[in-house]
Amino acid sequence: MKKRILTGDRPTGRLHLGHYVGSLKNRVALQDEYECYFLVADLHTLTTQPQKEYVDALRENIHEMVLDYLAVGIDPEKSTIYLQSAIPAVYELNLFFEMLVTLPRVARLPSVKEMARAANMTDEAIPFGLIGYPVLQSADILMPRAHVVPVGKDNEAHVEVTREIARRFNHYYGDVFPIPKPLIGDVPSLVGTDGQAKMSKSLGNAVFLSDDKKTVQRKVRGMYTDPKRIRADIPGTVEGNPVFAYHDAFNPDVDEVGDLKARYRKGRVGDVEVKDKLACALNEFLAPIRERRAHFAAQSGYVEQVIYEGTLKTQALANETLSAVKKAMGFTGIWNRISRKARDRMKKREKT
Ligand code: ATP
Ligand code: MG
Repeated sequence: MKKRILTGDRPTGRLHLGHYVGSLKNRVALQDEYECYFLVADLHTLTTQPQKEYVDALRENIHEMVLDYLAVGIDPEKSTIYLQSAIPAVYELNLFFEMLVTLPRVARLPSVKEMARAANMTDEAIPFGLIGYPVLQSADILMPRAHVVPVGKDNEAHVEVTREIARRFNHYYGDVFPIPKPLIGDVPSLVGTDGQAKMSKSLGNAVFLSDDKKTVQRKVRGMYTDPKRIRADIPGTVEGNPVFAYHDAFNPDVDEVGDLKARYRKGRVGDVEVKDKLACALNEFLAPIRERRAHFAAQSGYVEQVIYEGTLKTQALANETLSAVKKAMGFTGIWNRISRKARDRMKKREKT
């Protein structure tokens, strides 16, 4: 039996280079070795965007995000892509898991506060569901009884919460869940083009996997670099410089990167050259992704079929897990006993 992987993304927009190095790359690499489940986490968007206009935007965002999945090489013949909101068993698991974690444990997670801040929410405005987000995420992960969760650094703490919930469940009710492990990508947290925060859909600092050549060139030219370098002959700092972070992550020509870094440190190269070479490397990396994206985008209904078939398969698996959970907890027994006694009495009364 293959071990299972579960991970996913909020369909709040197109995917970017940060998603790629943080999680997508591992997904593609592991889809032969593991049984993979990739969730389109539409319910999670409600935590910061519950308004109708955002729900209306989901249809388009889901389509674009799944195109990104296919474009990077997630293969629906090998991996299952499914829609979270169409798996009601997950909501039931969520309720059981809510009882196995304390409020302070989830409330103090920095990621929840960061999400609130990014959505311009004051502490008082944080919805109950946003605090509970890591619990719903635990339900997502434990639903397929996953062993491995490929995520970026910002999600590592949520997998830790999931591990605690799984351990507590197993301790109270018997072994139902494997204890899942996070798998952090090559670049645990890719910085944005602004050099200020991690690359994020919502911060305007992202290079999207679907950006065209010109857009990539424009974004790279506008990237933040060492601000002390007002002339090309001033020695610059490579460490923490986003332009070099991207070179390290996406430029396969190690010699070129080494040479650029050496000259940058000595003040022997202009920013324009460093950035032009980066734009070239990124465009070469993105070219096959763009090509596959266009290929799948041209097939009307294909993305929907992938989601539909994946979701039906996942519904069956989720019901299986939910049954195991209710059985282990004793709820199946309670209901069975009530049904049996009621039916016995009804049968006896029919006879008399
Ligand atoms: P939003 O702005 O809507 O919060 P996001 O860009 O932060 O979106 P998420 O949907 O929150 O993306 O994250 C999906 C996955 O991608 C998670 O596993 C997350 O850790 C990873 N990820 C997101 N941004 C980065 C990044 N800059 N570097 C590495 N991994 C990332
Ligand atoms: Mg996020």
